[in-house]
Amino acid sequence: MLKYADVKVVFREVPDEIALAINLTNCPCHCKGCHSEYLANDFGEVLDEASVDELISKHPGISCVSFMGGDAEPDAVFRLAAHVREKGLKTCWYSGRPLPEEISHLDCLDYIKTGPFIPECGPLDSPTTNQRFYRVGRNSEKEICLEDVTYLFQKKI
Ligand code: SF4
Repeated sequence: MLKYADVKVVFREVPDEIALAINLTNCPCHCKGCHSEYLANDFGEVLDEASVDELISKHPGISCVSFMGGDAEPDAVFRLAAHVREKGLKTCWYSGRPLPEEISHLDCLDYIKTGPFIPECGPLDSPTTNQRFYRVGRNSEKEICLEDVTYLFQKKI
């Protein structure tokens, strides 16, 4: 069961979107130097279709919902992302894991950030970052494809 600690409307985490960032708890990644170690604990409000709907209704004007974490239950993230899409909003997932080889299940997302936080490499806006931020789309054969747009974070510094 997904749970979240808090939510915030953010303007930089998803380029060109006004995103509702939902900070999910029970993070299994345990990155060294994590910015929010408390998110490793299993606590918070339940995040399901009903609570997502309530959060969206409380934040008019958003264009995107960004799931921050949730690597312990990726299928639940995908299910909720598909639900959000049905409401006409874009979706983003900030995962702490590397990009999986199989990407066909990412079709419920418009954006995905991948990779753990590694202090020596830095976050997305660092030129040496190991993390990647992709725009999810479809090619002419209607297959899922990813465009690496990490540079959008780096040219703002
Ligand atoms: S994925 Fe994010 S929240 Fe989880 S340990 Fe890594 S930096 Fe911290």
